Amino acid sequence: METLKLAVVGGGFAGLYAAYRLSETHEVTLYEEDDIVGRPKHCTGLVSRWTMEKIGPPALNSLENSFNKITFIAESSRVEFERDSIAVKLDRIGLEQRLLNEAKKNGVTVRMPYRVSSVTPKGEVLSFNGTKHQFDAVIVADGLAGMVSSSLGINKYNYRRILGVNIDVKLNHGMNTDEFKIIFSDIFKGFFGWIVPTSPDKLIVGGGSIGLVRIQDIISGINIHGEIRDRYGGIILTGPPARKPYRGLAFVIGDAAGLTKPFTGGGLYPSVKVVDCFSSKSLDYWQRCLDGIVRELRSQLHIARIFQEDLSPGSIADLFDVAKKHGISEILSHKLDYDRHEELVSLAFSRKVETLKAGVEYLFKHPVSGLSLLRRMLFVLVT
Ligand SMILES: Cc1cc2nc3c(=O)[nH]c(=O)nc-3n(C[C@H](O)[C@H](O)[C@H](O)COP(=O)(O)OP(=O)(O)OC[C@H]3O[C@@H](n4cnc5c(N)ncnc54)[C@H](O)[C@@H]3O)c2cc1C
Repeated sequence: METLKLAVVGGGFAGLYAAYRLSETHEVTLYEEDDIVGRPKHCTGLVSRWTMEKIGPPALNSLENSFNKITFIAESSRVEFERDSIAVKLDRIGLEQRLLNEAKKNGVTVRMPYRVSSVTPKGEVLSFNGTKHQFDAVIVADGLAGMVSSSLGINKYNYRRILGVNIDVKLNHGMNTDEFKIIFSDIFKGFFGWIVPTSPDKLIVGGGSIGLVRIQDIISGINIHGEIRDRYGGIILTGPPARKPYRGLAFVIGDAAGLTKPFTGGGLYPSVKVVDCFSSKSLDYWQRCLDGIVRELRSQLHIARIFQEDLSPGSIADLFDVAKKHGISEILSHKLDYDRHEELVSLAFSRKVETLKAGVEYLFKHPVSGLSLLRRMLFVLVT
């Protein structure tokens, strides 16, 4: 394959992974404005096994825990999804450092600290001192606050923002480490909370909200007893992704393009998929492939908004109850993919009769949210 001369702007997960992976076949220069990577600590580090394996050794060597069960809790109701290694927890700071080290070993030219002033659709990278470097293509991964992607006309005002908080807790007691929990509650407006064990006596408890979320409310609401060791967080993006995240030879990826899974805000899976697109040497293919990922994430938006906007925690609890009563949660439990949330609808409709019975029962109980649930599911089916 012909070697392309590529620039990557931004050394967060998206840029580091792009530099690492693409340096296997191309000549890559990485620009990062900071002098370290992985900081500040913010991310929970939950990904699917598929995503971890796709990233390869830097992720496999950052594995902290593996889960066989995810329990969704809303009020007194809960549904469980069980599968071997349904999700894994990575050491996010370690992951970014390993990606950088491996990228360097692969021959990536690392310019750090180096602040790029702008990138042009002609593939030029400009610095504040007026120097200009020409590339065959530029991958812009400058994050939500990045000005380079904004100056390329990527409109970030549309992205739905959640304030996410993580708290590292050392427990007073032991706990099961192969299950993590997702909690829908009024404390987490427009999002959810989570309990993620990292060892038998340590866990991350956290949550997100469209408004302010207080650490004390999370601790008391989730009812955790232990010593707080650290607290951190940041803005979680829940879509929608930019429709066309490219301009000529400049391709915008990661948080900068709103490329996250809208239900969880997970950014690692979409970045891994996008960088896969770039393994081809045809830039037309890069665009088509990116369009496909944008479509997938836009389809996931409908599932996300059911839980984030349409249903209250009480109506989510009732939804769980009818899903269990008619055996739908059982079907989903063994098949649901941690990344491909849009598949939830086709999986549910693989048992049409049970799904329709559950739908009618739910509609009688919650006519308004039941209708929006139906509308969202139809959208997913036709897109
Ligand atoms: C609380 C929380 C929990 C999360 N949990 C998960 C999770 O469990 N799983 C998951 O998959 N995702 C999770 N995410 C999301 C995930 O962390 C992000 O999607 C991901 O880190 C974004 O990476 P990025 O490289 O796109 O952007 P960033 O990490 O923001 O990186 C952008 C980089 O670009 C650099 N930069 C900016 N401008 C310039 C410039 N002009 N010149 C040079 N460099 C520049 C910045 O210094 C920075 O290093 C979570 C996020 C939060 C806030």
